[in-house]
Amino acid sequence: MSTPWIAAVGRHLAVFTAGTLIGALYGRPLIGAFIVVTGLLLWHLYNLWLLERWLQTGDLAEMPAGNGTWARVFARAKFIATQNKLNRKKYRRLVKELRTSMKAFPDGGIILSPNNEIIATNKAARLLLGLKRKRDRGQRIDNFIRHPSFVAFLDAGRKKETVEIPAPHGEKWLSCRLMPYGPDQRLLLVTDVTRARKLETMRRDFVANASHELRSPLTVIAGYLDALDEAEDLPDTWSRPVADMREQTRRMSQLVVDLLQLSKLESSAPGPLDAAIDIVSMLAVARHEALAAPAHPRRIELDIHSDAGLLGEESEIRSVVANLVSNAVRYTPEDGSIVIGWSVDDAGGHLSVADTGIGVAPEDVPRLTERFFRADGGRARQQGGTGLGLAIVKYALRRHDAELDINSEPGRGSRFTCHFAPQRIDRRPGHPDGSERPDPREESR
Ligand code: ADP
Repeated sequence: MSTPWIAAVGRHLAVFTAGTLIGALYGRPLIGAFIVVTGLLLWHLYNLWLLERWLQTGDLAEMPAGNGTWARVFARAKFIATQNKLNRKKYRRLVKELRTSMKAFPDGGIILSPNNEIIATNKAARLLLGLKRKRDRGQRIDNFIRHPSFVAFLDAGRKKETVEIPAPHGEKWLSCRLMPYGPDQRLLLVTDVTRARKLETMRRDFVANASHELRSPLTVIAGYLDALDEAEDLPDTWSRPVADMREQTRRMSQLVVDLLQLSKLESSAPGPLDAAIDIVSMLAVARHEALAAPAHPRRIELDIHSDAGLLGEESEIRSVVANLVSNAVRYTPEDGSIVIGWSVDDAGGHLSVADTGIGVAPEDVPRLTERFFRADGGRARQQGGTGLGLAIVKYALRRHDAELDINSEPGRGSRFTCHFAPQRIDRRPGHPDGSERPDPREESR
């Protein structure tokens, strides 16, 4: 017990003793004690009434001063009330600041309940999605954004991922991102990406048009150079320059072909799900072609564990295989080896090209699929590559629900694995045309 309370008990006892003693003087100690106790009770009741009356108004100016123990109680209550007032003021200011910043925020923000119902929206979100604050509160967000990609994205609820969809009203394109908010709510961030998409389309169109326009002049130049090369009266001093010009023209033509292929892959819809690709035969052909290259590693083998096929666009998957295999051939010395693998499990199909070549430094691995990125610039250019091969692989795989996984160690080799989603696997045995499929182990010999 604290000192003031010991003093209060002491005071009460003293008053009680005094009352009893005065009563004893008149031969009535009990009556004296009774009067004193009743007086004390009435005094406490009066103070309680004062407190209750003040609690009803909460007006700090009207707080009674009280005396004795009650003075302490009133002072404490006044302190707590003053603190609360200050906190309320602070809280109101914070809410106001938050509202102002939410209003000024250029991106839309929508707070969603665990059932995807709208709890709160800012002005930008209402403008972008055509929402009304009061009318739409409590409605499910997928009643307003019905795009299938958005609904799938909402159900998956993956953090850090974004989905781009056309706005429910108007011409705009929106990028949506979900993040955890509070204990069980989510914040949906909506950004207007119309301008960025327009610029991206312009860039893509420009590259496609420029590449297309370059095709005809290059064909003409290549034709004349071929004719010059075959001309019998060509002076000897011109043989080397003409050979160099032919090589450079071939590289430029390859560049144009790759650029056109890339822009087609970037802008078209996902590959078909009903066209079966005989991947085992395709890998066998890729192996034969690699063995036919002027310079190649001595051992090029197949490691086939499934005769399942793939569902998609054959030319694009062929391009994926050709790019990965030709890279392995170019970046692996003659005494090295290449293994081309195919296997299927519950997670889907796995197509891999592993080599024991020069490998790639760890810091370069994430950049390999960028356009024109070369891990070892000069050396890779000498190998005759365009720097677009792995970008083509990335986009072709994206259109087939597949991802590229790269493992590499400088000096030891690389493994490029394409992981295809289960819905892309054609598990029917045999060739798509019904004929028997050759034993892949035969092929690898
Ligand atoms: P390139 O036409 O230059 O080969 P790619 O896009 O196919 O372009 O590859 C990009 C870069 O990745 C290459 O320049 C090379 O540095 C590196 N690379 C690709 N495949 C391999 C590999 N199998 N081994 C080592 N480096 C590779």
